[in-house]
Amino acid sequence: MTRLAFFVLIAITASAADITTARAAAAVVAVNSPLQAPLAPSPSDPFPLWLQELTGQTRWPGETPPYIPMPNIDLSQVPNEIPRRDLGVCQGIERSHCSFDCYRCVAVDDISTCPTLSQTFDDGPSMHTPKLLMELEYKTTFFTQGINVVRYPDIFRQQHMAGHLLATHTWSHAHLPGLSNEDIVAQLQWSIWAMNATAGIVPKYFRPPYGAIDDRVRSISRQFGLVAVFWDRDSYDWRLNDDSKLVEEVVKDIVSWKQESQGGLILEHDSTVKTVNAGINVSRMLGPSQLTVAECINSNWYQNQ
Ligand SMILES: [Zn+2]
Repeated sequence: MTRLAFFVLIAITASAADITTARAAAAVVAVNSPLQAPLAPSPSDPFPLWLQELTGQTRWPGETPPYIPMPNIDLSQVPNEIPRRDLGVCQGIERSHCSFDCYRCVAVDDISTCPTLSQTFDDGPSMHTPKLLMELEYKTTFFTQGINVVRYPDIFRQQHMAGHLLATHTWSHAHLPGLSNEDIVAQLQWSIWAMNATAGIVPKYFRPPYGAIDDRVRSISRQFGLVAVFWDRDSYDWRLNDDSKLVEEVVKDIVSWKQESQGGLILEHDSTVKTVNAGINVSRMLGPSQLTVAECINSNWYQNQ
C-alpha cells in the first residue's frame, strides 16, 4: 500500500461513526416541517481521534490553520517563479501565470461553465443554509469553508443527506495567491479534513475565494486531487447585504442570462438571509433542470465516492 493510499484509507475508515451520526441527522430532517425556522448553530462535533493522530492537534484550528506536512504533497514540484500578491493586485502579474481573478484565465482542467444555467453557493454553511435547503427542488453545488463546516456540522450533514454536491472553498476564505506554499496546503488540507470528519466525503471540486488563483496555487490544489471551479455568471448577490443591489436587479440579470444562452454557472452565496432569499427566487426562476458541477462535466462527485 502506498503512503497516499494509507492516508486516504485512514481518513475514510475513521469517518464511519460520523456517517452513522449523519443518518440520524437525516432522520430528523425528514420529520421537519417546511415551515420550521432555520436550525440554531449546532455544537461542534468532537475533534476526531484519527485527526489528532494525523496532525498532533487536539482541536479544530482558528482562522489560520497550521501546516501539516503530508507524504503525498511535494512542495518541491511547485513553480517558484510566480510571486505572492495581495488581494486585488494584478499589476505586474504575468498572463502566463494564468490568473482567473486578474485575467479570467482558465486552465484546461478548470471548470467555469455548465451546459445548463445552474446556481452554485459559496461561503457556507451558515445558519441561513437550512432555509435554502427547504426550498430547493433540485441538487445544487455548495462550496463550503471548513471553518463553517465544523461550526455547523449538522447543517453540513443535512446538505449532504439532501443529495447536494459539497465542495471546498478553503478552510477560512483565504486569498491563496498571497499565501506561502505551506499556508495554501494548510487551507486545503484542513477544509478537506473538516468535510471528511463531518460527512465522510473527500471533495473533488474546489473554488478559490475571490476566484483568486494562479499556476502556483493550481500546482498545489492538483496534488490534492482538486479540480478548480469558477463561474461565468456573477449574481453579485453579496451587494444585497448593504442594499447596493436590489433583488429585482438580480432577477433582471437571470432573465437576460436565460435569453442569452442555455448554459452558465452562476455565483451566489448562502451566507446571509438576503443572499439566501435571492437564491430561492433564482431557483424558482430556473427550475429543477439545473445541474451540479459534477453533472456539468459528467464526472464523479467526490474523490472517495
Ligand atoms: Zn467566497
